[in-house]
Amino acid sequence: MYRTNTCGELRTEHIGKTVTLAGWVQRVRNLGNLIFIDLRDRYGITQLFFDSNSPLAEKAKSLGREFVIAATGIVNERASKNAQMPTGDIEIKVEKLDVLNESKLPPFTIEDETDGGDDIRMKYRYLDLRRNVIKENLLKRHQVARAVREYMDAQGFADVETPVLIKSTPEGARDFVVPSRLSPGNFYALPQSPQTFKQLLMVAGFDKYYQIVRCFRDEDLRADRQPEFTQIDCEMSFVEQEDVLQMFEGMVKYVFKKVRGLDLGDFPRMSYADCLKYYGNDKPDLRFEMKLQEIKEVVSGKNFKVFDDAEAVIAIVAEGCSEYTRKQTDELTEWVKRPQIGAGGLVFIKCNTDGTFKSSVDKFYSADDLKKIAEYCKAKSGDLILILSGPLAKTRKAMSELRLELGNRLGLRNANEFKPLWVLDFPLLEWDEEEKRFNAMHHPFTSWKNEDDELLQSNPGAVRANAYDVVINGVELSSGSIRIHNREKQEKMFSLLGLTPEEANFKFGFILNAFEYGAPPHGGIAFGFDRFCSIVISNLDYIRDFIAFPKNNAGRDMMLDAPSDIDSKLKKDLGLS
Ligand code: ASP
Repeated sequence: MYRTNTCGELRTEHIGKTVTLAGWVQRVRNLGNLIFIDLRDRYGITQLFFDSNSPLAEKAKSLGREFVIAATGIVNERASKNAQMPTGDIEIKVEKLDVLNESKLPPFTIEDETDGGDDIRMKYRYLDLRRNVIKENLLKRHQVARAVREYMDAQGFADVETPVLIKSTPEGARDFVVPSRLSPGNFYALPQSPQTFKQLLMVAGFDKYYQIVRCFRDEDLRADRQPEFTQIDCEMSFVEQEDVLQMFEGMVKYVFKKVRGLDLGDFPRMSYADCLKYYGNDKPDLRFEMKLQEIKEVVSGKNFKVFDDAEAVIAIVAEGCSEYTRKQTDELTEWVKRPQIGAGGLVFIKCNTDGTFKSSVDKFYSADDLKKIAEYCKAKSGDLILILSGPLAKTRKAMSELRLELGNRLGLRNANEFKPLWVLDFPLLEWDEEEKRFNAMHHPFTSWKNEDDELLQSNPGAVRANAYDVVINGVELSSGSIRIHNREKQEKMFSLLGLTPEEANFKFGFILNAFEYGAPPHGGIAFGFDRFCSIVISNLDYIRDFIAFPKNNAGRDMMLDAPSDIDSKLKKDLGLS
């Protein structure tokens, strides 16, 4: 028997028992007359000790970091207890010591605070996974998955697997493809999501489907994007938008309660248009207010051309910041001028506590003008008004970034707070300036609001979709929609997207055909599971720490060194050389 107990479970009630533990040597401390070893396994750390007269002392001293050992001995009460460790009241007086395997010196320290940089830890991911922080994340991910399954199961959803080698079903990103040996020159695609399959399952009458499923998207490099990621993918029949919202709000609440013991409360709802108007983006962080305010009307006509000529002038009010120094305001100005934000400049109005006003545009605005602007913005004395101007969409975007940055600087984005939100009424289409045509904002299977039917011809950009997102703390956790379930409507959608009937048939003939065999009304949603885990568990948007074997920001697996060249024979068989 390799072990009688784990390294995380022994307590004072075990004192006097003989036990055998197995694990990795975290550290050997040789104090001369006493030798201590911290022995680690998945469950914790237990202290082993040897006195220098023990026949095992030499062997103990010779152990290196990360050696795998088994130690048998008696559980003793510790002379100096360690309240920080669950096993800190006891130690094992070792009587038998076996080295099960040796280890090379690891390339970084396997402790909570490691000295290893990103690349080296990715290369030796199996060592990084021994570290408590990363290990705990993955074990908690398992709990999140379990909670999801419990809920879905209780609600009658059936877990059905869908294929991984499929035909390209574009959802906005590029497909990863797999060359076919048996059909030279042809390719399978890896699914960007099981979208069409789950809809076909509804046509098949499955009624409620879900799957925790891997998806693949060949997107351009962006920080913390993974080319393969996991979704909780769901679909239901005979539902309207409200049914889907209720069902999945329930799921998110269940998971937060189960995993974090938190009651999220009912999710507020906001239209896409209001999100943009008040927060400058479609995934607002509602942990703090600081709403965007369009103030063109009150600042125009004072000969300040920058504002007069701008499509939009937008302000936010930073509470209690009127005493910002010149250095601080200069720094914020530099911050918004960075290419990532792209603003031309930043205007300030300080609402001083003595009732006076001071602005960076005093030349154009009298004290009275500034007071009017402050009143319009509902700024109080002691507040700082920050103003950006320019084209509407660009200015909103820049202001949304500035708002978040101020939220960070002012400590308003509390790591223990969760503010969920449903975002509704997304546009159905978005204009692609490069291609000079519309793209589906969500995906081409999304239905539109009946009342916007007319607009489809006259003003397609204004048509609203039956689409919805869950956002928590500024992070988009899921997207979904009520689908089109009728061949004519789906064909109409494809034609709006610029597909000829032939192209539509070539790419999507299978689903168009299926719609002719009694497709029920249906809709669904998919949650980014890695992201969901990172928010539920750490309230951070950093998915890599919640994936066992992630790829780096360049899409490489540093451990496997993939992607890589393949065998020349295989290449030939695939017709690639
Ligand atoms: N398939 C969609 C996505 O991956 C989600 C959905 O509409 O259910 O975003």
